[in-house]
Amino acid sequence: MNSATFLLAFNFAIGLSFAAAFLAVSRRSSLALGRYCAAGFVAAASTVAIEGMVAAIPSVRLASTLSFGSLMTALTAITAGLVRHYRPQARTGALWTVLVVAVIANAFVVFDFPRGTWEQAFGYQGPFAAMLAIAATIVARHSPRRPVDLALAAVLGLSALQFAAKLVMLGLAGAGPGVRAYLSSPYAFYSQTAGGILSLLLGLSLLGLLMAETMAEARDRLQTDALSGLPNRAAFLERAARTLRALPPGESAALIMADLDRFKAINDTYGHSAGDAVIRAFGANLRAHCGEGALCGRLGGEEFALLIPACTPQTARAHVEAVRALGRRTRYPELPEGHAVTASFGVTLMARDEPLETALHRADMALYAVKKAGRDGLRFAPDPRTAQPAPAQLLSNGFCEVRRLRRIGVPGRSKASRRALTR
Ligand code: GH3
Ligand code: MG
Ligand code: MG
Repeated sequence: MNSATFLLAFNFAIGLSFAAAFLAVSRRSSLALGRYCAAGFVAAASTVAIEGMVAAIPSVRLASTLSFGSLMTALTAITAGLVRHYRPQARTGALWTVLVVAVIANAFVVFDFPRGTWEQAFGYQGPFAAMLAIAATIVARHSPRRPVDLALAAVLGLSALQFAAKLVMLGLAGAGPGVRAYLSSPYAFYSQTAGGILSLLLGLSLLGLLMAETMAEARDRLQTDALSGLPNRAAFLERAARTLRALPPGESAALIMADLDRFKAINDTYGHSAGDAVIRAFGANLRAHCGEGALCGRLGGEEFALLIPACTPQTARAHVEAVRALGRRTRYPELPEGHAVTASFGVTLMARDEPLETALHRADMALYAVKKAGRDGLRFAPDPRTAQPAPAQLLSNGFCEVRRLRRIGVPGRSKASRRALTR
């Protein structure tokens, strides 16, 4: 086995190994990119196999077309996968048309150009360089650009340059030996080595991208509540802490806690699937009012939270009232006509450096007060910085927290918190 044949065998094994790796990753992900890459690397391995068997193929034209067609198919499949991945709205039909036209042109036009001419070099290597340049541009223009995108764009760009360099070398070299002498030429050795290294780098960078996306997908799944589609408790707390850190000094955020009223009765009377539908609809209503920069999540069961940065009490109240109004308009096919689903809301303002748990507790206390007062309403917790009761005009039903909490008591809450609320 001479060195070029050894490299062909090596490249063939690399192509198939990457195809298997892409298939294995794509089985654990909903991303189509893995399947495109697997198809691309199978086609690339076929190119290597065809080049290895070139002496056994009876027609030189057929061998040339098969070799060109399989490599062009490999590059088109990978580029189409990247287009679908980075620009889901874009169509890939044009790429496949380019492939078909390039293969037909190669078989019936480019093959008949005299060997060693610039037009033959351009007709053979040009489509490869162009397809790789398209792929590199798609990846490089994606925003935001992560290190994994930059690495892939660089490898694609280098691969495009390698084909462009081949084009120039072939044009400068002029007429060389026939295709069948290709395997023993030093050019074949250079071409296979450079191609092997770049296809290895391309496979690794594509696999890196796929792994990064699959991990992001898995993290999203872990952080998203499957029923409401909102961030779950852990994700809400993590993102809320990040949002608070980003608040300008002196700005407050509104933290709102919501709890569906008499939800257990819905489950008990109409079944869990009706309860699930109510949670889904409430989640959708909250999301509809989340707005730019705000954050909402399902804390658990039928409890939800909303964090609105840079928010005044008036804006917070407007948000809650909008969610309540939307709730009144929501129809539930799973419940009898006219069955109202209401919720209670506890609201507090918080500074960026206040621990989230403290503010959640305060909002929870205000929410608890609404429950005790008969549900379907909202309460503001006292402002912790001034320890003043919430402004009376912001309390629904015109009640002051002082009187209400003295009257109802707050079982299960700490004495200190109760004191803060009842001051
Ligand atoms: P209150 O007005 O005082 O909040 O009363 P409630 O009935 O809404 O509250 P309670 O805490 O007594 O009941 C909450 C119920 O929510 C109990 C639990 O079975 C139900 N639940 C929790 N998670 C889910 C869920 O994912 N789907 C459904 N269908 N029910 C759930
Ligand atoms: Mg409830
Ligand atoms: Mg509850």
